Amino acid sequence: MITERLTDDKVGISRAAEILQKGGIVAIPTETVYGLAASAFDGEAIKKVFAAKGRPQDNPLIVHISNMEMLYEVAKDIPKTALKCAEKFWSGPLTMVLPSNGRVAPEVSAGLSTVAVRMPSNKTALDIINKSGLPLAAPSANTSGRPSPTTASHVENDLDGKIDGIVLGSDCTVGVESTVISFCTNPPRLLRPGAVTAEQLREIIPDLAVDKAVLAEPEKGARVASPGMKYKHYAPKTETYLVEGDSDKFIEFVNSKNDGVAVCFSEDADKITVQKLIYGTADDESTLAHDVFSVLRKIDTLGENKAYIHSPSKTGVGLAVYNRLIRASAFKVIKL
Ligand code: AMP
Ligand code: MG
Repeated sequence: MITERLTDDKVGISRAAEILQKGGIVAIPTETVYGLAASAFDGEAIKKVFAAKGRPQDNPLIVHISNMEMLYEVAKDIPKTALKCAEKFWSGPLTMVLPSNGRVAPEVSAGLSTVAVRMPSNKTALDIINKSGLPLAAPSANTSGRPSPTTASHVENDLDGKIDGIVLGSDCTVGVESTVISFCTNPPRLLRPGAVTAEQLREIIPDLAVDKAVLAEPEKGARVASPGMKYKHYAPKTETYLVEGDSDKFIEFVNSKNDGVAVCFSEDADKITVQKLIYGTADDESTLAHDVFSVLRKIDTLGENKAYIHSPSKTGVGLAVYNRLIRASAFKVIKL
């Protein structure tokens, strides 16, 4: 299949909407990561999304909407707290799992009675949803298991020739996928951390629970609330370790290794004598979120046997970065 390159202007947006209305699949920019979009009402189109990504069938997709009316086209019995969260955090990187009204194709929710919904803030994404008039199911536009795509060229590397179109928009500003919270449990539960932090959510939901899968490996065979959290994810081919400890210990540790690349904070880079990749500054976790997936993709280009990534803090947006990195390192954590 030839993948159409589309511009992120009126012409490209109209063409993307047309392809989506006809049951095609198109990669689109959002503020979190690039998404691979299809009509949430079209089961055949959704099947193409799963096939292009190689995504396991039991991992449901997030439905992207552009206004509050669309929320009622896909969900029902929406709790008041969820509406408060929508008011505070939409448009933006928050996904809410709600009771489905049964209208989205069953493939979207992987057969569950719930539906995950988000209103992105990226203007191109909103314009495409508006123009198509459709809620769009859109998982990250990467090959399943690979780091999520934060630039159009990441998408091309993974999916060129497998999808109908790519909208060539700007790089993603947030860089990690949305926060996912379920309102189908009591109390509501954080399933995946993102740029809307647990601390911010607790201002509206003081008793917010945090799913075990956020910080640790789910037990083998255990039922997980968010099916996506049980899969190996974001993994470079290089054997990757997450290293917890202060800067002095990290620097000493990586400098003693001769077979690896250090993924470090910018403030420590000068003192590191082995091959290194910088992924932002420890003091501003949003810089780490912004670059983490690009850095994970770069690791494999350096030809080293191992990668040692300096762990961020587990607070604020740091929790989202930590959550992705324990998966990228297949839960291999070294505590110094
Ligand atoms: P991605 O589309 O790649 O960003 O992944 C979507 C994430 O949202 C995965 O971790 C899914 O398991 C989760 N998700 C989507 N829909 C639901 C749902 N109905 N219930 C629980 N988790 C969901
Ligand atoms: Mg994904």
